Amino acid sequence: MAVEKMEFKTEVKELLNLMIHSLYSHKEIFLRELISNASDAIDKARHESLTNREIAEACGEWKIKITPDKTANTLTISDNGIGLTREEAVAELGTIAHSGTREFMQALKDASQKDKPGLIGQFGVGFYSSYMVADRVTVVSRKATEKTNKAIKWESTADGTYTIDDATRDKPGTDVVLHLRDDDKKYLEEWEIRDVIKKYSDYIEHPVVMDITREKEDPADKEKKIKVTEEETLNARKAIWLKDPSEIKPEEYNDFYKHVSHDYSDPAKVIHYRAEGTSEFMALLYIPQHAPYGILYRDFKIGPMLYVKRVQIMDHCAELMPEYLRFVRGVVDSSDLPLNVSREILQNNRQIGVIKKNITKKILDALVDMRKNDAPAYEKLHKEFGRVLKEGIHFDPSKKEEIADLLLFTSTKTEAGKYTTLSDYVRDMPIAQDAIYYITGRPDENVLQSPYLEAFRTKGYEVLCLTDDIDDLIMLDLGEYKGKKVRNVIKGDVSLDKATESEKEAQKGKFEKLLAKFKEQLKDEVKDVRLSGRLTDSASCLVADEGGLDPQMEKLLKSMGQDVPSQKRILEINPAHPVFEVMNGMLASGKDEQVQEYIDLTYNQSLLLEGSKIKDPSAFARSVAKLMTGNLKGKKPA
Ligand code: ADP
Repeated sequence: MAVEKMEFKTEVKELLNLMIHSLYSHKEIFLRELISNASDAIDKARHESLTNREIAEACGEWKIKITPDKTANTLTISDNGIGLTREEAVAELGTIAHSGTREFMQALKDASQKDKPGLIGQFGVGFYSSYMVADRVTVVSRKATEKTNKAIKWESTADGTYTIDDATRDKPGTDVVLHLRDDDKKYLEEWEIRDVIKKYSDYIEHPVVMDITREKEDPADKEKKIKVTEEETLNARKAIWLKDPSEIKPEEYNDFYKHVSHDYSDPAKVIHYRAEGTSEFMALLYIPQHAPYGILYRDFKIGPMLYVKRVQIMDHCAELMPEYLRFVRGVVDSSDLPLNVSREILQNNRQIGVIKKNITKKILDALVDMRKNDAPAYEKLHKEFGRVLKEGIHFDPSKKEEIADLLLFTSTKTEAGKYTTLSDYVRDMPIAQDAIYYITGRPDENVLQSPYLEAFRTKGYEVLCLTDDIDDLIMLDLGEYKGKKVRNVIKGDVSLDKATESEKEAQKGKFEKLLAKFKEQLKDEVKDVRLSGRLTDSASCLVADEGGLDPQMEKLLKSMGQDVPSQKRILEINPAHPVFEVMNGMLASGKDEQVQEYIDLTYNQSLLLEGSKIKDPSAFARSVAKLMTGNLKGKKPA
């Protein structure tokens, strides 16, 4: 096939631009990224070779080789791994497959210089980091299953296009050739390469080798020195998770974390233990300080690396980690699983189930421990992962109370910057209060101003303020905590006012006609109109049925493309508010048109209060303006 010239996808062009023009610090991570890709490619080939002996024979002894060439100014990273076909090279090196690329790009533009490399690693745009140091990159690759020396050559100067051509390669594998910029020639120096590999790739299981030439004594003539070139392994290749925790220094844990997570910061918590008994495995797990990029996207890679008897099986074993703990990174090395485990086996494997249960418990225990003993760190963590953690209440009912205990809340009673927990909430509840109350709103909304809270404030009842999109669903799933019902303040019938039963009856009688008028006029908009037990100052509000969805949840589900029938709400009016006395008066004196207008105004106001749009804003504005001038009319000019 002849040489083809292709265009990068727009997001790759943009990313390359950023790589070249705005990343100056920590450039050396390009080597970590390329070695990591090479190591992945070897893992894939080794995995294939378990069922295909020919691959093992063709590839030879697994290794990654670094070749600096000071004459050509190139640094080559070679592996004898799985290789790329022409189509794969186009697909893998010409596009970015992740969702959320645009958001990532924006975050990258906004991030400080120091945070940029960390972001890049987390997003996994590893290969493109080559362009931080090279102005041209050539990739020569032969697929491990290719029996002839046929290979492909991919090349680009990051000018928006790349070429793909035929090539040859003696053995399967890939060479990534970096044509270094003048300013970055230090990466051809032996000490620099050693340094970077020690720092970032020491734990890579496969040997990273380089030809080192030294002067040595000539064995034939001891007086003479000769130059001898020997292949030297530059990385220690030690599996840190197999060591005894007491022998591991915090820096070692942190370095390994950076290696597995591509994160730049240290982890918030390390969990390292050996499980014995029904299942034998080692786990080294990390809770990061910051949420990794894309954690809310569908294609976010979940789960720790899975090793079986020190052999890497896969990068992310989703079967080992519940989704609500997907921020956890690390390694699990099992002694019980077969080496050739496939996805199908994983899904139904009892051992995997046992390990998952075990590590879930350890992680939850670690979180509880942090919450109790290191509150400031836990609060930070909760800001990052609370949204993900609470999904567990929905997906793992068996653990819902345990997870609920880990959640932090702001409430109508917490001071700015402080939090409460469900258990503290229940402890501090007035005796007369029989449920746990919460209100939902958008993060940018000041829910504390909400009229729904009026009666709760008057009664001295605390209300939890929830601002994550999924909160209402989560609280519905929780249902109860320590025997107390969990209730949304805008749902169901709440009767917190001071009125006695006989007073309520009297109110009902007094407003019966007005309520009937309301119901008749709003019959297409609301399900019911009733007197409110939750308002003290405001005139009216819209509420949902006990089991219904709140407006936040309705919007979220709709935005996810779910077919949610619009739920009619209930309009509640405050019998203690003077406006309804006024309306009663109008009704009695036959001012029907005015009553009609006031009913519309009441309803529209309530829509605005719950954060919904009103149907006819201009009619609403006209009515308000009329009211305002009406007020003026009644006054004498000054
Ligand atoms: P990531 O490694 O996060 O997927 P990269 O941009 O580093 O992102 O690499 C993109 C893809 O290119 C990889 O997923 C892999 O399929 C392919 N690739 C990169 N380097 C190699 C290599 N040395 N051998 C085989 N495939 C490779």
